[in-house]
Amino acid sequence: MAGNKTFTMLKPDAVENGHIGAILEQITASGFRIVAMKLTQMTKADAEKFYDIHKERPFFGELVEFMTRGPIVAAILEKENAVEDFRTLIGATNPEEAAEGTIRKKYAASIGENAVHGSDSDENAAIEGAFHFAGREMF
Ligand code: UDP
Repeated sequence: MAGNKTFTMLKPDAVENGHIGAILEQITASGFRIVAMKLTQMTKADAEKFYDIHKERPFFGELVEFMTRGPIVAAILEKENAVEDFRTLIGATNPEEAAEGTIRKKYAASIGENAVHGSDSDENAAIEGAFHFAGREMF
């Protein structure tokens, strides 16, 4: 059975470009409830750990550099079928391939600087949420 929570980050490009409000508005208008949220900045060690699965990929260095260059908004979201529905809402990794109206189509500049993260499984949603939030920060 699909779980009801996912984890997201509004990435440094989205924060720098002033898109926090518009993106959160689209997320909540799409039926997601914010369970936890904060403005935070990842260290190099944080980003390397968070994206460990990609450490052999050619873009890993750039990804770590990008994700640590400024603050992000980290959040846990709740909705029925949260992981899959949120991936649909954000659109394809590459904004050129993302469907019209999706968050990446509207706010992402490139496959690397793509505005928003969404967990790809229930298991990773739980791991990623716990990476950023203590139990008393979840509501
Ligand atoms: N990424 C990149 N170049 C690529 C593929 C991915 O810089 O060719 C970055 C991009 O920021 C992406 C993240 O690495 O969001 C994680 O990649 P993944 O394939 O897991 O995509 P996602 O699940 O974020 O859509």
